[in-house]
Amino acid sequence: MVKSVSIGVIGIQGAVSEHIAMMRQACSEKAVQCNVSAVKDKEKIMDLSGVILPGGESTTISRFLQKHGLADEIRMRVSNGSLAIMGTCAGCVLLGKRIVDDESDVCPLQLMDIDVHRNAFGRQRESFEQNVFVSGWKQPFPAVFIRAPIISKASKSCNVLAQLNSDIVMVEQNHMLAVSFHPELTSDTRIHQYFLSHILSLV
Ligand code: GLN
Repeated sequence: MVKSVSIGVIGIQGAVSEHIAMMRQACSEKAVQCNVSAVKDKEKIMDLSGVILPGGESTTISRFLQKHGLADEIRMRVSNGSLAIMGTCAGCVLLGKRIVDDESDVCPLQLMDIDVHRNAFGRQRESFEQNVFVSGWKQPFPAVFIRAPIISKASKSCNVLAQLNSDIVMVEQNHMLAVSFHPELTSDTRIHQYFLSHILSLV
């Protein structure tokens, strides 16, 4: 029987529609029925089996998640193992336990045992595209980095999936996936498909 999944993209700002389109495409390629939508209300979180925290401005997104109760709801569902989560760029910042070398007031969800360094590539290389090799994949992934963070430390309970030079840029831990670049801004659906496999293992 074809499974059906509900996936929400936190829709405050950033590349929300691009993530929705990529996730729909990934589901269709895997013949999985899906309902993918932008989510802003905490009441909607309980209906989801997967959630995406998109890129954007982590300060703004974190303030909204705290103020409107989504942060607690997401934390609870992910911690009890009923919700898979993927954070890209600013979303990667929000998944970390610790934000290092940063003066901002970002309040992360602290779900993954990683340290994240915001805007780590500095001004000169604020935005660039580079192929990265994801563990176990034959073809490199065309990664778009926009004022991207680096995962400066990942605990032993994490699985490092990709590095750029020696900097960690993609990590998984249980059903959580932190990606420091923007997979939704390419036409390559493999990262969304990979996230879908995490979601499917929960439903
Ligand atoms: N530098 C941003 C932040 O930390 C992230 C940028 C992005 O998501 N493209 O909030």
